[in-house]
Amino acid sequence: MRSDRDGRVAIIGGGASGTILAAQLARRGIDSVLIEGGGRAGKGVAYSTTEPAHLLNVRAEGMSAWAGEPDHFAQRFVKEGGDHRGFAERRLFGRYLGEILDDAVGSGKTRVLDSAAVTAEASDDGWRVRLEGGETLDAAALVLAIGNQEPEALRAFAGVEGRLISNPWGEQARAAVRDLAETGGDVLLIGTGLTMVDLVLSLDAAGYRGRIVAVSRRGQVPRGHADFEPAPVEADELPSGSLRGLWWWLRRRSAQVGWRAAVDSLRPHSHPLWQSLDVEQQRRFLRHARPWWDVHRHRIAPDVADTIARLIAEGRLEIMAGRITGARSEHSGIEVDIRRRGAAEPQSMLFDYAFNCTGPLHSISRTRDPLLRSLLDADAVRPDHLGIGLEVDQDSRAIGGQRLWALGPLTKGRYWEIIAVPDIREQAAAVADDIARELSE
Ligand SMILES: Cc1cc2nc3c(=O)[nH]c(=O)nc-3n(C[C@H](O)[C@H](O)[C@H](O)COP(=O)(O)OP(=O)(O)OC[C@H]3O[C@@H](n4cnc5c(N)ncnc54)[C@H](O)[C@@H]3O)c2cc1C
Repeated sequence: MRSDRDGRVAIIGGGASGTILAAQLARRGIDSVLIEGGGRAGKGVAYSTTEPAHLLNVRAEGMSAWAGEPDHFAQRFVKEGGDHRGFAERRLFGRYLGEILDDAVGSGKTRVLDSAAVTAEASDDGWRVRLEGGETLDAAALVLAIGNQEPEALRAFAGVEGRLISNPWGEQARAAVRDLAETGGDVLLIGTGLTMVDLVLSLDAAGYRGRIVAVSRRGQVPRGHADFEPAPVEADELPSGSLRGLWWWLRRRSAQVGWRAAVDSLRPHSHPLWQSLDVEQQRRFLRHARPWWDVHRHRIAPDVADTIARLIAEGRLEIMAGRITGARSEHSGIEVDIRRRGAAEPQSMLFDYAFNCTGPLHSISRTRDPLLRSLLDADAVRPDHLGIGLEVDQDSRAIGGQRLWALGPLTKGRYWEIIAVPDIREQAAAVADDIARELSE
């Protein structure tokens, strides 16, 4: 079955990136179809949580969906009793994005299609997208806004099933949290970043009172937000082109103005700074500096940081620096060998459940996503120079494809800082302009 050409632009992925782009296109009078396969149109992965404990990790004043209208979300939050500089519940932000999508749909310019796209191929005059039910959809332009890829399978856990939760965002994870709240068994969280924080909050909110061990190579946990005096810098004050120079600049500057002010002062310059590093330096950043950068840059709300500190103090959460060297299914759970940092031998520990909180897949060529595979196999897209996303040009157009754009995390090889709403909304506005130019030619 083939549908009519019913959208000039097909946007695959209905999370924050796809929703904001659809709304931007609607403002420009451009028709689009927003194809969302996970039932999360107008929310995406981060904002479809229903848990009050899950707070935004960016202050309300930074979370507007509209480039050039910085107060748009904060005003909404204030109406609900919040504060400009406060941290809203993520589900409130989901409702806000949902309303933006409703407005776009109400304008008659956006249509939402509740289905997964399984392949996309270039046609004579644009793109043909095949949906999971077998239908096809034709569009003049295609945008990939599919977010992050599922985490890498854990090698140490090969052959372990059942009580290993591979996708911390899925129904299996929610069922495991409910089970743990009832049984109180021990939990292993593999990874100590933002995903780990979310799961700890979910477990605590569900009434779980057992013991959680969270392990990563360095045992670094996201730091908390706190008030500080901003200390902005001009681009020409920064040592562009040198990772080592930047690292030393950051250390010196942190000693002068505090690390929060120093880290945040780099934000307006992050794209040119990232692009000024050569490939080898970018790789070195990913290998060595990234764990520290991530925990200082992507900070958690103060209330969330307090909860984590309290659980550690109560002995209910242990953060471990170490390496998992093996794992086996046992009758009563999963036995895991963990070599703590500095220890000569691994120690075996028994857990009722283990959750993969290692974060998104980093090697795009290993994706199991059929849509991306179809595009990669047809050379319509290429992995970027680091292999962490897709190669895109300065307009976020995929290199190798015609009238094909990528948004959000898929473009992190080019921009690095492109996963949070303040960056995504700028990118979405620029892509909408570029699409408008392209389609008017
Ligand atoms: C837990 C968590 C908390 C976060 N908190 C914040 C925060 O407080 N502030 C902030 O600025 N950023 C935060 N982020 C960063 C977040 O990634 C971005 O804000 C933003 O939500 C990314 O949106 P996205 O649309 O690019 O990706 P996603 O939200 O992942 O959306 C992609 C969508 O595409 C759909 N999809 C994928 N493949 C297909 C397909 N083949 N066909 C159809 N649909 C498909 C998926 O179902 C999904 O809904 C958080 C991220 C996470 C994971």
